[in-house]
Amino acid sequence: MTAVVDRLAGGRTGFSVEFFPPRDDEEERILWRAVRELEPLDPAFVSVTYGAGGSSRDRTIRTTGRIAQETTLTPVAHLTAVNHSVAELRNVIGWYAAVGVCNVLAIRGDPPGDPNGEWVTHPEGLTYAEELVRLVRELGDFCVGVAAFPHGHPRSTCLDTDVEHLVRKIQTGAEFAVAQLFLEPEHFLRLRDRMSERGCDVPLLPGIMPITTPRVLRKFGELSGAPVPPAVLERLEPLADDAAAFRAEGVVLATELCERLIAEGVPALHFYTLNRSKATREVVSNLGLLPARA
Ligand SMILES: Cc1cc2nc3c(=O)[nH]c(=O)nc-3n(C[C@H](O)[C@H](O)[C@H](O)COP(=O)(O)OP(=O)(O)OC[C@H]3O[C@@H](n4cnc5c(N)ncnc54)[C@H](O)[C@@H]3O)c2cc1C
Repeated sequence: MTAVVDRLAGGRTGFSVEFFPPRDDEEERILWRAVRELEPLDPAFVSVTYGAGGSSRDRTIRTTGRIAQETTLTPVAHLTAVNHSVAELRNVIGWYAAVGVCNVLAIRGDPPGDPNGEWVTHPEGLTYAEELVRLVRELGDFCVGVAAFPHGHPRSTCLDTDVEHLVRKIQTGAEFAVAQLFLEPEHFLRLRDRMSERGCDVPLLPGIMPITTPRVLRKFGELSGAPVPPAVLERLEPLADDAAAFRAEGVVLATELCERLIAEGVPALHFYTLNRSKATREVVSNLGLLPARA
């Protein structure tokens, strides 16, 4: 199984995609259609998020395992410390290894139900992602990634301290970082500079989500942790009643953002897909990132 850092080392800009584990047969069908549509485009990796409940967690293990065993794709399994003892975390990491997954995105997670609620550490668990990075690295030959926040983590009051925590995760053994969504490249580039000033030059992947519907636009601010910039609102809001025009403009906006990031030398673009492939395929095609045979 290939390590993500090796997939990112080729020199040309690539892309990666993020899925969530399907909740029922219909979602499973939608997910696998997206997987099969993206497979020939040769993404650097595909990651699968990790939920708070036991059944959702089983589905992450099952889905990443199926991707490892039934496709040519490189899977990355997310793992969080939420409501887990260290013994349980060891168990999940063992399952990932057993189904052929050697790349893990080690994240702290948020309190279930209320992401802004008080974080309560499991009595036999972990408090920060840094400890999870250490645990995964101790348990095997895993390539570990971590989360990064261009606008700062919502719980942090100081960007510099937040970057120091990010750098600590890398020093503990993480080999790449994936950024939360953003719309203004300057925030991402400033984060990369801050990491670099601290001697930290691991691949940092920008998080991209094409805004294809007014609903996604409303969610965007919530997810990114920053208000949607007025320049973006001015282009999208007038199209709110024309679904096709709104979607097309959302794809153009994402393409423009990616063009700037490619010019700035990012190793890959990480797409939050919502388990669909069409918008990602359109942006990747606009950018000329498709392999010749696709
Ligand atoms: C790419 C990406 C993927 C994600 N995938 C998932 C997923 O699959 N499932 C899910 O539930 N959530 C997911 N999340 C959300 C994530 O779990 C939350 O944003 C969470 O609040 C932060 O996780 P973290 O790993 O950055 O935490 P940490 O790195 O532990 O940071 C959490 C907070 O603590 C601070 N901190 C860190 N280390 C220390 C320290 N040593 N001392 C004091 N303060 C410290 C940080 O500055 C930050 O404010 C994802 C986020 C991103 C960006």
